[in-house]
Amino acid sequence: MPESTRPAPTDKSGLYAPYFEGLTQGQIKVQQCANCSAVLWPPQDMCPECYATSLDWVEASNEGTIYTYSVYNRAFHPAFKELLPYGAVSVRVSPGATILGEYGGDPADIEVGQTVRAEFFQTAPGVALIRWMPSDLSTPAPNQPTTKE
Ligand SMILES: [Zn+2]
Repeated sequence: MPESTRPAPTDKSGLYAPYFEGLTQGQIKVQQCANCSAVLWPPQDMCPECYATSLDWVEASNEGTIYTYSVYNRAFHPAFKELLPYGAVSVRVSPGATILGEYGGDPADIEVGQTVRAEFFQTAPGVALIRWMPSDLSTPAPNQPTTKE
């Protein structure tokens, strides 16, 4: 099944626009308060620390550590059936955001604290998403799509 049949974010405007734009360029971008430097994730209109509305977008690291994860043994959308079982991981990246994405290795190998790095793949025209790869793997696992942005 081609990756283009996967569900993709349809609203790339608004608060998340810089994030989705960054993904198409192979960058993870997160908000940072221009006043107090707090990292805001998910993106917001106002800093919850100092109430400033002057917020910047900064590039986060493409490498991080797994904070938590889930392994899916049942597809909740037909497009994911061929990936079963697959993992979804929340990854802590510098400067302080937790970014969700698909896990690109064998889900049996996922461990909290594991170092992973982001690969970016096109899931629809103009839409890229993150696949977190174990740092010791240089290519996606055989059951994973290989399209790479
Ligand atoms: Zn602030």
